[in-house]
Amino acid sequence: MRVSRLFTKTLKQAPADEVSRNAQLLIRAGYVYKEMAGAYAYLPLGIRVVEKIKQIVREEMNAIGSNELIMTTLQRREVWEKTHRWDESTVDIWFKTHLQDKTEVGLAWSHEEPIVEMLKHYVQSYKDLPISLYQFQTKMRNELRAKSGIMRGREFIMKDMYSFHTTKEDLDTYYEQVIEAYKRVYERLGVGDDTYVTFASGGAFTKFSHEFQTITDAGEDVIYLHREKNIAVNEEVIDDAVKELGISRDELEKVKTAESGNIFNFGTQKTDEMGLYYTDKDGKRQSLWIGSYGIGVTRMMGVIAEKMSDDKGLVWPVNIAPYTAYLVSIGENGAKAADELYDKLTSEGIEVLYDDRDERPGAKFADAELLGIPYRVTVSDRLVEAGQVELQTRKTGEQTTLATDELLAKLH
Ligand code: ATP
Ligand code: MG
Repeated sequence: MRVSRLFTKTLKQAPADEVSRNAQLLIRAGYVYKEMAGAYAYLPLGIRVVEKIKQIVREEMNAIGSNELIMTTLQRREVWEKTHRWDESTVDIWFKTHLQDKTEVGLAWSHEEPIVEMLKHYVQSYKDLPISLYQFQTKMRNELRAKSGIMRGREFIMKDMYSFHTTKEDLDTYYEQVIEAYKRVYERLGVGDDTYVTFASGGAFTKFSHEFQTITDAGEDVIYLHREKNIAVNEEVIDDAVKELGISRDELEKVKTAESGNIFNFGTQKTDEMGLYYTDKDGKRQSLWIGSYGIGVTRMMGVIAEKMSDDKGLVWPVNIAPYTAYLVSIGENGAKAADELYDKLTSEGIEVLYDDRDERPGAKFADAELLGIPYRVTVSDRLVEAGQVELQTRKTGEQTTLATDELLAKLH
């Protein structure tokens, strides 16, 4: 992609009303556009990051046998009434609207009930189970406060997955597989070392559910950590957990975190509430065991922007960077050589953002840093003469000059 064709422009200042660091940086660099508090558009650069995060999640969910689908944003009132969750005294974040004939409908804040309802059409016998389904879907939540940039949207992308089993043991086994798959996701996103499987409240049939909490000062949660024993507890359940796990509160370190993901064992409660059953080998009607597993895709992008940035801008890990290299041309011969290098790199499958603008080198360098592209490659008149290019690593600032074939080897 040529920078001259990008419609976005970098900004020196973030909009005055944007208080969160992740959104300030992402708006300045042209990744997102703020429509209103809690609602952000994803621009060409931003969508590339979102898609890369989704792809990592997709690969790991496929690897544990889950099937991708997309449910609808419009939802039926009667489906949610079965579990008393249409009621705003139970769920206070609903966006609701109505059809022309006055039928009330809801905008999806979750798909737990609709997916269970849908499965009544597909699950009859034990032979149909187990099933695991997931989607990347835009969730609508009328959150009271939306001051954390893309980390708390009123409209945001979630990966939600649901699994259906004939026995508790089968659900428990799958639940453990999901924990391992999630660990691989956070590892690949570059936050594995800072993300903890955390005991949280609200498990059905089990005392706790689990959250994946990533350490960041921008987070809205607080957890208690035992780094040596690798135990983390959400402050909501700290008293219970301390008792249960046999640890003392004094041993725990208090840290600020963001909830990156969340997994939940519903037991058979939803099945019974919603009337989804299967028949076993003896033809007897049985309840299903259900698990629910979320990852905040756009929240992760915000968390990573917060954690991986410095005073010059964003610092994306290579795995989710919109482009691997930012190519800068300086001078007339430099521009010619950069054109050729751009063609060569892209034909080899390297993702390059090519700053072909007629701008001062300093301005191009500053944009490369603000955008946080992992490698900056500079081609100048002087370097062309020496048959070399300059490579700078965004994260460390390390700089070397090298020949084109060495550059290719490095970027592959
Ligand atoms: P929170 O406590 O932060 O409101 P939640 O408990 O409501 O989260 P879930 O309903 O379990 O979250 O959603 C699954 C995942 O979706 C969360 O772990 C989080 O990563 C993400 N998520 C939840 N709410 C938002 C939001 N408003 N904006 C962006 N991501 C969100
Ligand atoms: Mg919430």
